[in-house]
Amino acid sequence: MSKALFLDRDGTLILDKVYLADPAGVELIPGVAAGLQRARSLGYKLFLFTNQSGIGRGFHTLDDTLRVNARMEELLGLGSPLFAGVCIAPEAPGQPVIYRKPSPRFIVEKLEQHRLDPAQCWMVGDSAADLGAGLAAHVQLAAVCTGKVDPHTLPEVVAHRIPVYPSFAEFAATLA
Ligand SMILES: [Mg+2]
Repeated sequence: MSKALFLDRDGTLILDKVYLADPAGVELIPGVAAGLQRARSLGYKLFLFTNQSGIGRGFHTLDDTLRVNARMEELLGLGSPLFAGVCIAPEAPGQPVIYRKPSPRFIVEKLEQHRLDPAQCWMVGDSAADLGAGLAAHVQLAAVCTGKVDPHTLPEVVAHRIPVYPSFAEFAATLA
């Protein structure tokens, strides 16, 4: 069975600009490209799993998000497609949930489709929703401090002793 990383986007791979719709606003978090390259060289499949409620709220379109993602891939410079799968969850809070984190549905589907070993898969993110999705999917978890909240204070981190890293780069350095 193979291994994978499920990666939050805003606050984990790129700066969280909140409802980012303009590709010109994409800024990589330092060390992310090298960390992704390291993970890939170790055999991890990479999946992008991002909540984009700005779509459901009517603040921007799915096409805007696709352009932002394309710009992120361009800046990463690791080739395209970089990700084995991408989930853009468009639901706004209060709308019926299909994929919006903390729903684990995307992770669960990919574990099955790609015959991944949950014990060798990680959900990496900066928010309670990321960690909730990973917990529900029974994969490994890592929290990063490059988002809008201090993850040390998240109930999920405290209750489940989830490791907290300064950024994705430090997490990636621990992968084997
Ligand atoms: Mg985030």
